[in-house]
Amino acid sequence: FFISFEGGEGVGKSTQIRKLAERLAELDFSPTISREPGGTAGAEAVRHVVLDKAAAEPFGPQMEALLFAAARLDHVENVIKPALKRGNVVIIDRFMDSTRVYQGASNDLDSDFLRTLERVAIHETSPDLTLILDMDPKIGLDRAAERRGADVDVDRFERETLAKHQARRAAFLEIAAAEPDRCKVVDASGTIEEIADEIWTVVQEALGN
Ligand code: C5P
Repeated sequence: FFISFEGGEGVGKSTQIRKLAERLAELDFSPTISREPGGTAGAEAVRHVVLDKAAAEPFGPQMEALLFAAARLDHVENVIKPALKRGNVVIIDRFMDSTRVYQGASNDLDSDFLRTLERVAIHETSPDLTLILDMDPKIGLDRAAERRGADVDVDRFERETLAKHQARRAAFLEIAAAEPDRCKVVDASGTIEEIADEIWTVVQEALGN
């Protein structure tokens, strides 16, 4: 069973993934947890360049999208597919919807180009359940900045304008509306425990428990 977590900056994906993994482990599901961009040595190397402003400067939007796709293909082939084959529950922090939103909606890339890349990178391996953590981007950005500490540089995507983050929130919600069987929107403005409980309810239902 394949679960992806999606949402804007600072919505609490990694905290909730940890909580979900603990609850799944108690039920003897052995979760495999990973993140994108990343998850393999090659994909982590791509992460390093695409998230670094200076290193990423020479990339145009198409090249950037190809790099994200290359990282995803490596991750799918070497981590996600083998884990699913072993029968594990796989939980990924960001997957194809982040590309649709960050490289697509934000960069005005041609949708056919992105669809082709998505197909090449993931083949049939799409999530059974996608949890979209949703909240006002202003709060998310403040949280993300706090988490890093005032003296730590934020990554190049976090630095962008509030309007861009608001457009991304809308783009995630559009995906959820278009694919309601796969995507569930979770209100991420509550307490950690409230959000974890809501996610647990959705996951249990999806797993048929
Ligand atoms: O999940 P996390 O916030 O750590 O993601 C790292 C960064 O990568 C984020 O700032 C996100 O905006 C960016 N990203 C992206 N395109 C993707 C995946 C992540 O721009 N496809």
